[in-house]
Amino acid sequence: MERFFSKSYEDVLKQFNVSKSGLSENQVKENLDKYGYNQLTEKKKQTVMQVFLSQFKDLLVIILIIAAIISMATGNVESTLVIFAVIILNAILGTVQHFKAEQSLDSLKALSAPSAKVYRNGKKIEIQSKEIVPGDILILEAGDMVAADGRIVENFSLQVNESSLTGESESVNKFIDEIKEEEIALGDQKNMVFSGSLVTYGRALVVITGTGMNTEIGKIAHLMEETQEKQTPLQVSLDDFSKKLAIGILVVCAIVFALSLYRGVSILDSLMFAVALAVAAIPEALSSIVTIVLALGTQKMAKENAIVKKLRAVEGLGSVSVICSDKTGTLTQNKMTVKKVYFDNKLIDGEEVDLNDELGNYLISSSILCNDSTSKNGVEIGDPTEVALVNLGHKLSLDELNLRKSYGRLGELPFDSDRKLMSTLHKFDNKNLMFTKGAFDVLLDRIVKIKTSTGVREITYEDKQNIINANKQLSQSGLRVLAFAYKEFANPEFLSLEDENNYTFIGLISMIDPPREESAEAVKDCITAGIKPVMITGDHKITASAIAKQIGILRDGDRAIEGIELDKMSDDELKSNIENIAVYARVSPEHKIRIVRAWQEKDEIVAMTGDGVNDAPALKQADIGIAMGITGTEVSKDAASVILTDDNFATIVKSVANGRNIYKNIKNSIKFLLSGNTSGILSVLYTSLMALPMPFHAVHLLFINLLTDSLPAIAIGMEKSKKDLLKDKPRSRNSSILSKDFISEIAIEGLIIAVFTLFAFYMGLKTNEAVASTMAFSTLCLARLFHGFNCRGDKSIFSIGLFSNRFSWMAFGVGVLLLNLVLFVPFLQKLFEVSNLTGSQIGYIYLFAFIPTLIIQIAKVILDVIKSRKDNNINSSHEKEEVEKVA
Ligand code: ATP
Repeated sequence: MERFFSKSYEDVLKQFNVSKSGLSENQVKENLDKYGYNQLTEKKKQTVMQVFLSQFKDLLVIILIIAAIISMATGNVESTLVIFAVIILNAILGTVQHFKAEQSLDSLKALSAPSAKVYRNGKKIEIQSKEIVPGDILILEAGDMVAADGRIVENFSLQVNESSLTGESESVNKFIDEIKEEEIALGDQKNMVFSGSLVTYGRALVVITGTGMNTEIGKIAHLMEETQEKQTPLQVSLDDFSKKLAIGILVVCAIVFALSLYRGVSILDSLMFAVALAVAAIPEALSSIVTIVLALGTQKMAKENAIVKKLRAVEGLGSVSVICSDKTGTLTQNKMTVKKVYFDNKLIDGEEVDLNDELGNYLISSSILCNDSTSKNGVEIGDPTEVALVNLGHKLSLDELNLRKSYGRLGELPFDSDRKLMSTLHKFDNKNLMFTKGAFDVLLDRIVKIKTSTGVREITYEDKQNIINANKQLSQSGLRVLAFAYKEFANPEFLSLEDENNYTFIGLISMIDPPREESAEAVKDCITAGIKPVMITGDHKITASAIAKQIGILRDGDRAIEGIELDKMSDDELKSNIENIAVYARVSPEHKIRIVRAWQEKDEIVAMTGDGVNDAPALKQADIGIAMGITGTEVSKDAASVILTDDNFATIVKSVANGRNIYKNIKNSIKFLLSGNTSGILSVLYTSLMALPMPFHAVHLLFINLLTDSLPAIAIGMEKSKKDLLKDKPRSRNSSILSKDFISEIAIEGLIIAVFTLFAFYMGLKTNEAVASTMAFSTLCLARLFHGFNCRGDKSIFSIGLFSNRFSWMAFGVGVLLLNLVLFVPFLQKLFEVSNLTGSQIGYIYLFAFIPTLIIQIAKVILDVIKSRKDNNINSSHEKEEVEKVA
């Protein structure tokens, strides 16, 4: 690789035939053709064949293969063929579903693809990082992820964290000069930046020298291969369950086999019982259905402005019990408008400032010069706080571009949310002035002089009190206040952070950022759902409290504290007070981690929003890290598991509701599948214990488990979200899906279906064994199709809405059709070993299949009534208590 670090930046620009204003369109096209896209070659994906073969590794599938072999040994060739056909069909479905899930994750990844800012043709534009070509002029700012390797051509205090390449966790200060050494380590190439590192501070322009596999990170690309998506906790516990189930099945099969032999059943018939039992018990479709429902859920959430980057986050979202949210832009609109300004001990409207007045001119000019945003014909670029200042300038007929041309920037110290200040140096008023704007309290402590209409003088205690009062008055009505000051230098010099003191105060500018319309409602939903909303903001405590009160986050008995108070608290103190703290003001990103940890120690599941570069650690620490899609930095998006495309708090609450719904739907699908299997197992166990003939052939059970059961299971997974989902308390961190209650419901419902299946079986036995088996199979199949409606929710089908899920009707219809094809099409009759039935036998099948659902529905109606009585009692006793309290 070439040693760009040893060349001057001018030489590197020349080498790529480009100036600081960027490449032309033709050059970009040429370079793209020559070097290709700026992306690492993807890790080799599994081939279709590999995925297909991996489907056979499952223990449950192996049991099925053994069953097929035993069937063959018993001379039941048709059965063997069907079992193999089913295993292969299952493997094909598994393969298709694997690639579908991968595709859906890829498309989510594309939605959250990183972007970069470049100069091309003299214009600043935003492009996808993969479109960067060698020679491009890349703009880097704090919070950006460096998207390709490059040589620095303009530098304003750039600091970069290169830990992904060098392992060094401290940020590196960059510079522009060439390095004359021959061979130096990557970490010492301080005039270069490398793909994959993070800009933690400052600003720079960079000419791109290498893209894609030609970057330093490309060289070690194999080390960076993305780890495979981890399984969600639910998938892990289901996998664990399947393993235990498989072992359990083998043990029970062995017992049944031994028992049959003991009763004098022939070896072959005993084997067939064991096979039937194994096939009945294996929930073949279970894991596919969980993945399908999770993947469908992420697609729905993406449409509703939440891109879920990891499947495990879908589940996590559903159990969130604390949401820590930024204020600006998430709870508020981030549309700032200047209201009042304060200078010379006067509080006036921003639009009333007279630019002919020297002090007014200083205040407005500094607000535009110490500012990186622009606003032209309604197109606003930059931080809304700064845009508000530019817009005020426009209202006073001051154009930011002209002003900045007349008083060029000689140096700068960019804004960062830890320091809460920004400074720029200009030749202004024939002096070298450093203008600084920033948080009121941070700046006030550093002020020694004050500029008044009668000149500059030492600041007095009284002056400070006046300024503090003005700030209080503005903040109490929820306005954000910025303070402005300057410092004079004899000569223009290189600015450092130590220069930010000994200021002369100019004035204050306040701006309003109204809450989002939907915030108050979303906060209310949170509280009903047992979720604690917490505001974390860099803004002033009084401003933050005013907004938090307006939207209902700060309620009676709640506290608002500042970062400084938090610093004084020990971790234990924080933990014991945390439930009452609703607002954290003047905090730095580092405080966020302590807040997350304290909540987590209380076993709460925490969602935390973040947008800045320093937010990444807190986003990673939180159970659900949420980044802002519009205003968030690339670094925060990378660290988060969810990205909001509308930056809106209400979207978080909606996603929690979606997460809860998906979890509930998966739970109901699992209940449906397992209760159906239980009914099959109980029927086979009963007949084997009673020395009756076999109720089902293996093919019957496979037909049900794989075909007719899959459809209602997916339909249940697509059940719409109900408003009352947000009335329940969040699920606890340790709650297992397979709780005792859940397992007993599965057992009871399975038992009811088994009883009626056996009724049908006994009825069939009056004719012959073949009819008995056909009747038992059809009743079991149909009863499970009906049972699909029971599993749509906890309540009775009429409370849920009989027709509110059209997929469940479609699944039922297709299932009934498939069953009838098997019963009446001669070829299928033979393949599935069913015999002809009389009209009345068919009538009984439908009757016996329907009765379990009738019983379950009646039980649900009774439970609904009991529950609503209980709720009413609780409510009225609460009301009584309230009345007594008031009295
Ligand atoms: P939140 O933390 O709720 O997202 P925030 O904007 O208050 O919002 P920061 O961006 O960290 O948080 O800002 C912290 C403080 O720094 C602000 O309250 C303000 O006083 C000051 N500030 C914000 N933007 C600028 C800026 N561009 N220049 C100077 N000071 C700023």
